[in-house]
Amino acid sequence: MNRELYGKLVFEISRPGRSAFRLPKSGVPVVADTAAAPIPAGLLRETPLDLPECDEPSLVRHYNNMSTNNFGVDTGFYPLGSCTMKHNPKINEEIASHRSFARLHPATPAKAAQGALAIYWELQRALSEIGGMAEFTLNPFAGAHGELTGLMVIRAYHDSRSDAARRKVIVPDSAHGTNPASAAVCGLEVVEVKSRPDGTVDVEDLRPLLDETVAAVMMTNPNTLGIFEKNIPEIARLAHEAGALMYYDGANLNPMLGVARPGDMGFDVMHINLHKTFSTPHGGGGPGSGPVGVRAGLERFLPSPRVTRRPDGTFSIEAPEEALGSISATLGNFAVQARALSYILSLGAGGLMEVGPLATLNANYIKESLKDCYLLPIEGVCKHEFVFDGLRDKSTGVTTLNIAKRLLDRGYHAPTIYFPLLFHESLMIEPTETESRETLDDFIAAMRDIAREAAETPDVVKNAPHNTPITHPDDTEAALHPVVTYFVPRNSDL
Ligand SMILES: *Cc1c(COP(=O)(O)O)cnc(C)c1O
Repeated sequence: MNRELYGKLVFEISRPGRSAFRLPKSGVPVVADTAAAPIPAGLLRETPLDLPECDEPSLVRHYNNMSTNNFGVDTGFYPLGSCTMKHNPKINEEIASHRSFARLHPATPAKAAQGALAIYWELQRALSEIGGMAEFTLNPFAGAHGELTGLMVIRAYHDSRSDAARRKVIVPDSAHGTNPASAAVCGLEVVEVKSRPDGTVDVEDLRPLLDETVAAVMMTNPNTLGIFEKNIPEIARLAHEAGALMYYDGANLNPMLGVARPGDMGFDVMHINLHKTFSTPHGGGGPGSGPVGVRAGLERFLPSPRVTRRPDGTFSIEAPEEALGSISATLGNFAVQARALSYILSLGAGGLMEVGPLATLNANYIKESLKDCYLLPIEGVCKHEFVFDGLRDKSTGVTTLNIAKRLLDRGYHAPTIYFPLLFHESLMIEPTETESRETLDDFIAAMRDIAREAAETPDVVKNAPHNTPITHPDDTEAALHPVVTYFVPRNSDL
């Protein structure tokens, strides 16, 4: 990265009269139907737009430097927990951006979009098989949107049985923040259930909470601590006996792929984050897709429109009577779905079964290699992610935030910090199945170096990062008063 150019806006490198290469005006007449409809004279601007004026090399360098200021999975290891940031094979990008998909309009009639509908339908079938569910809808745009949709399905189910007193959702204290938020948006009351010291849900704490006012028990497995919830069959039995349904937050499906199915454990409704488990680069808020699956008997409550296959093998878009209605303007985020199907088919059943064991092996390898320097609050085998509670030696005053910032100096994205809320110095690491042994070893070495620095030269860690373009922004100030526009100086001011 060129430090002189960093942070400059293209308006700041502009100089009056500078310009890049420009072709002479074409003498070829414009074909009639490509000429834009003329803009009415009254709407035309009278003064030229104040655009930056730059020479070509400055412009090329400006944008190339800017493109390297962002950290991404394509530039380095991204140990962020809870989000499954992994390498997403480029072939899936190519397939999703194929011109016949990219030019598809959401309102294209089913007759003219049979290929795209076949992708929807096949993905609905593949996810049903993977989740152990009867049917899936692909319409929700994110995990949280899937949670809301799934809870709406659960509400509709209880209402259909004239069991409308069920308005509580039980959520473990280790849950992702979207779980209680979705329940609240759905008009349901959130009841928290405690975790035991081993990080799993406390069945004894749960038992008395289950009564005829409970609509659902929402669980994540492995949970946000990366711990496999072993008591799901027992919890599902208790919930079902009390008349409640089991909701599975599938954001952590990665280590379970092809190994275990939520439907077989007793879950009735689930969502999957395609952008976490099935190949879509995410971060920065999108694009996402949170398909929702249901067990047999609940299909009719899924939102419309729905893609179905007719006996003659063609596909249609339906809006069934009892469906929830629409929860999105369209059939969801098509490009994310195309990537997911491409990923599933290219790995195949055998490949999918390798994802879980490799993700689990990678996480346990890092955890075991670092637990002599970092505090491991929950011992034992984890799944795809785990949580340290900061350094073992707290006497130096080096915090999780300092460690995360120091990792930036070493060329790593920071892990998830201060989540889950169960520990004061949470540092949550998820390596994903796509990382090599060499990458893991380099990361372990960096983490060990930081632990040594914390003991020997703590100020180096406390004042990190030292070599990033921005060092210590005021997070709160940036969120409250973001500067999102730039005053364009007139060229004469420069
Ligand atoms: C990411 C995540 C969610 C929310 O998914 P989004 O797609 O970000 O809305 C829910 N639960 C868990 C455990 C997650 O990791």
